[in-house]
Formats: sequence, C-alpha cells, structure tokens
Amino acid sequence: MSAQIIDGKTISAKLLDRIQSRISARLVEGKRAPCLAVVLIGADPASAIYVRNKRLACEKVGIESISHDLPASTSEADLLALIRQLNDNEHVDGILVQSPLPAHINEDVLIEHIDVSKDVDGFHPYNIGRLAVRQPTLRSCTPFGVIKLLEASNIDPKGLDAVIVGVSNHVGRPMALELLLAGCTTTSCHRHTKDLAGHIQRADLVVAAAGKAGLIKGEWIKPGAIVIDIGINRLADGTLSGDVDFVRAKERASFITPVPGGVGPMTVATLMENTLFALELKEARK
Ligand code: NAD
Repeated sequence: MSAQIIDGKTISAKLLDRIQSRISARLVEGKRAPCLAVVLIGADPASAIYVRNKRLACEKVGIESISHDLPASTSEADLLALIRQLNDNEHVDGILVQSPLPAHINEDVLIEHIDVSKDVDGFHPYNIGRLAVRQPTLRSCTPFGVIKLLEASNIDPKGLDAVIVGVSNHVGRPMALELLLAGCTTTSCHRHTKDLAGHIQRADLVVAAAGKAGLIKGEWIKPGAIVIDIGINRLADGTLSGDVDFVRAKERASFITPVPGGVGPMTVATLMENTLFALELKEARK
C-alpha cells in the first residue's frame, strides 16, 4: 500500500480563495476588510519567515495587516502596553504575537492580556476552554487546520482511535480537544509516555506534534492508518522534516501529510479565517 498524500498547499490555497471571496463580497456590501495586527519581537530567522508568510496571506485574501516589529530588548511592560492599545483599537480585529518570545517575556501573561475576541491564534485559556466544553469560537490555528485537512480529504474522524503525540498548550492539547470534539477516542502521548510505539501501533489516526525528527518509526504505523505530521524539524543538511519517518510510514498508511507542504500552509490559512471570523463575531454582537 502507498498512502494518498494530503496536499496541504492545494487545500489551503482553496481555503484562501474562499476567504478572499467572502472578503470581496463584504467590500461590495460596503463593509470593511478585516484587520490583523502582527507583532514580531526580535530577529529570529524562522519567526521572520512565518510572519512574512502570514503578511503575504493577508495581502492575498484582502486582510489589512498592521506590522509591529519590535527589538528583542522590548520589555514585557512595553509589550503589554502595546497589546492593551491594540485591544482598545476598534479597527483591529485580530492580534497575533509570533512565538517564540524572548526569555524575559512571560508568554502566559502575554496571552491572557489579549482580548479573547481578538485572540485569532486561539491560545487564550478562554478560547481553549470553549473548545473543551464543545462551544468553540476562535480555535487554535494548527489543530483547526488539521481538522480542515481531514474534512477536505473526506476523512470522517468519528470513532477513530486517535493518538496525539505532544501535549503543548498551543498544539498538542487543543489538537486532542479538536479530535475529541470530532468524535475520536483520543490518547495523548508525551515525553513521559512509557510505550509510545505500542500506542502508535493501535492508532487509526496518528497526529505527531513533538518536534523530534524521526520519532515516529514507519513500522509502528498500523496498516491503513491516517498520519498527520505537525512537526517541523530543521535537519543538519538544512532540509525540513516532520516527526514521522515519512518514507516508510507512507508504505503502510492510507493517508499521510508531507513536511513541508502538509499542515504548515493550513495554519496560515486558518489564521486568515479566524481573523475574518473575529470581525464577523464583533459585527454580530453589535
Ligand atoms: P513543544 O516543544 O512545546 O511540545 C512538544 C511536545 O512533544 C511536548 O508535549 C512533549 O511532551 C512532547 N514530546 C517531546 N519528546 C517526546 C518524545 N520523545 N515522546 C513523546 N512525546 C514527546 O512544541 P510545540 O510548540 O507543540 O510544537 C511541536 C512541533 O510542531 C514542533 O516541531 C513545531 O515546530 C511544530 N509546529 C508546527 C506548526 C505547523 O504549522 N505545522 C505549528 C506549530 C508547531
């Protein structure tokens, strides 16, 4: 068996086209375009690339983006002051602060400062809590992007035994909540899990989000399983790899995402959708 490759680039491009159409229709109706404030602190090269991709996506779909590029020395107090200013700015619908943050800034404090209705990353405990109680509003971009990849591939997650590897607040935990909401029986594995191989071998759906190249061996994949690789790892030769041994896993899985070109583009597209949704929610509440 050779798995069907889930092409995140094509699926995300279609999603971006749909968002662009919805925004164009708004403009025709005399409504304004959504506005996303993008905050980048420091000069981490990977963060700069992610932020550039997000700004380019805004341009493509017709979302206005406001850039705040701050030096790495920016104090937490100054950053929080900027967040308060963006919270109060009626014109700003979404606030994105690119991670990782410099060590002197407490990410939990920062996230809690962002107005929950502008939390387009879906990281605020309020928005994670809404997902946990099955009333999602703004949903974490990467896990929500995975749900959209499954939908676009006509995969019904209901009843699947899903194993999620990684339990971070931004990725693994909301991924488990999304899959629970979608009707999976979920198991979350992490660095203290005793028998990772055993869990993977029983899984109908494997979602890898550990950030460890080659962690998931191809021979662990149950024949016919669906494999979604969120991990992004830079190898010594400069190329990117996921957490799954793609070449061997592809021979056993029914569906698999590549890295790059799988989940990554969906994260950006979902951010665009969340920003439009944040504006629509604001209008609906008026
Ligand atoms: P993180 O370091 O915060 O969390 C990693 C998780 O993996 C932890 O919960 C840890 O317990 C678990 N883990 C680590 N080693 C393990 C092991 N040997 N066995 C089992 N579990 C193990 O990372 P994160 O922010 O959650 O990101 C995870 C990966 O996803 C990274 O590679 C990151 O670059 C990538 N990522 C991709 C996207 C995307 O759009 N594709 C978005 C966000 C993050």
